[in-house]
Amino acid sequence: MDHSVKPGDDFYLYANGGWLAAASIPAGQSSYDTRAMLAEKTSQRVTKLIQEAATANSAPGTPSQKVGAYYASFMDQAAIDSRGLTPLTSEIAAITAITNKSSLSAYLGSTLNSEVDGLTANADHVLGVWINQGFEDSDHNLPHLWQGGLGMPDREAYLDPSPKMAELREHYQAHIAAILKLAGIADADTKAAHVLSLEIRIAQSHAPDSDAADVFKQNNPWKRTEFPLKAPGMDWSAYFASAGLANQMDFIVWQPSAVIGIAALVNSASIDSWKDYLKFHLVEHYATVLPTTVAAEDFPFYGKTLSGAQSPPDRNTAAIAATNAALGQAVGQLYTARYFPPEAKAKAEAMARDIITAYRTRIANLTCLSPGTKQKALAKLAAFKIGIGYPDIWIDYSTLNIVPRDAFGNMRRVEAFNRSHNLSQLKQPVDPIDWPINPQIPGAIIMFSPNAEFFSAGLLQPPYFDSHGDAASNYGSAGAGMAHEISHSFDELGNIYDAHGRLGKWWTAEDTARYHAATVALAEQFNSYCPLSGLCVNGKQVLGENIADLAGLLVAHDAYILSLKGKPDVVIDGLSGDQRFFLAFSQRWRKLQSEAALRRQITSDTHAPGQYRSDTVRNIDDWYKAYDIAPSDKLYLKPEDRIRIW
Ligand SMILES: [Zn+2]
Repeated sequence: MDHSVKPGDDFYLYANGGWLAAASIPAGQSSYDTRAMLAEKTSQRVTKLIQEAATANSAPGTPSQKVGAYYASFMDQAAIDSRGLTPLTSEIAAITAITNKSSLSAYLGSTLNSEVDGLTANADHVLGVWINQGFEDSDHNLPHLWQGGLGMPDREAYLDPSPKMAELREHYQAHIAAILKLAGIADADTKAAHVLSLEIRIAQSHAPDSDAADVFKQNNPWKRTEFPLKAPGMDWSAYFASAGLANQMDFIVWQPSAVIGIAALVNSASIDSWKDYLKFHLVEHYATVLPTTVAAEDFPFYGKTLSGAQSPPDRNTAAIAATNAALGQAVGQLYTARYFPPEAKAKAEAMARDIITAYRTRIANLTCLSPGTKQKALAKLAAFKIGIGYPDIWIDYSTLNIVPRDAFGNMRRVEAFNRSHNLSQLKQPVDPIDWPINPQIPGAIIMFSPNAEFFSAGLLQPPYFDSHGDAASNYGSAGAGMAHEISHSFDELGNIYDAHGRLGKWWTAEDTARYHAATVALAEQFNSYCPLSGLCVNGKQVLGENIADLAGLLVAHDAYILSLKGKPDVVIDGLSGDQRFFLAFSQRWRKLQSEAALRRQITSDTHAPGQYRSDTVRNIDDWYKAYDIAPSDKLYLKPEDRIRIW
């Protein structure tokens, strides 16, 4: 804090001045904030846990043994190098054996993996699958099919005619040739040109990135019988049989143009080009568990050219990331057992319950929604599921065998396990609390479909949330964050999903008009924040997030009052409960960033800089009371000028 600053003149500086003066941006970063602190701390803890598991001699079959063995085998570069590319022998033979459209379709089906989720832009194989409820059918899980198959990040890299992108494609083609040579394939240069040409045609069929923002474009239910008619070229019977989906009748196709385009290419592109394409991608898919010669070819293109990295990540960092990805909930069990005990979960769950109770009253009193719409919002709130910390039921890894010194085999077995685990959900009822994030990753996830939100154990820790700490601070920090996320279920992001997570707009045109009218003044308030000369916040660009901040802060404060159950809060270090609540809110937004990063944030981010998010307090009557804010203070707004939406 900086006690020399009056809270009413600059609340952010009052709350954070000491920290801002003492902290520094870590080398190689452009910013540093609460999120970065959490990520740093959690990553150190997870690294230590995994390394301990590797030397712990845990009982065979336990999560600790599997985590430790996965990590140790990944780190055993000598064992990996000694095998060369022989682990790929059977897969290469399967590709070599492809002779026609049907055997090609069957092979492509065997690569349909569940490595995608609702946010993936480009699946690793030509198509990816995500098992989730239907957009219109909340009673059944369905396979959602995804476009994929590109070795560069997106379609623009293939289609953009600029010299810069043309040069990138030349680099990529040279990289393909180098990998084919490593795999012992003759005439690699010519073949690499054919592989790139095939990928360009795949990219042409991909939906543009701009479509990703419109979920209605992704809601394309296809019957199994429609595939040969709508997307001819692929032998769909062979494809779905080897994908383990022979009996599946209903699908959601997110990007029909890609399914149609890829199926047509199975028919029109040469089988030999497909086979070279598949061999190249096979090596790339398993690159992290293949010899160092593969990594040495990969880094100059993927690391340097595409990502601008100066040196390859060290093996340990890669091994920790790979173990987290492969055995996320097993690492999560180790993490939460040590750092997020059931008492912490119970505390955070009680806070979430208070927030839901507070929302019930706030929604009932909303003025911009019509009575009928409010009923729908209340029904949505009642059906809302909230996941705190970690899953109540963990994934059972007992059938998954992790073998010491076999990094490649372990990755294959994990893939097979995940695939059968995910496909088995097609036979089960929709589980709204199927965790989409690992507990040890700091994060908050809104699902909308199903109607659920998740707050991980990695997020719910100091300085954001302290299960042994002061309730006022917890509600002002993590509570306001939680309430912010929940508000999105009821705003212009969430108003297209109903109580069961089905697509369908539940606001009327009058609701939308009243909502827009009520929010104009908040955009104007943020337009007036100008951190650098000639650079002001764009109130419209950040409006949605600022509405959520306002709702989150109000609801979290209501919830804090509820948590007191009518008793007055104690004074701690001379600060009342309300003072600590607002102080914690402001401290959650502390952030150091370079001028370039600040400019980038203001021009492109939908979130305003932390300092102005902290100034949300200006619109809250209780903040004025808590800190005795007077009309002469710089942040003072007359009661009629304070923004009231929620
Ligand atoms: Zn938000």
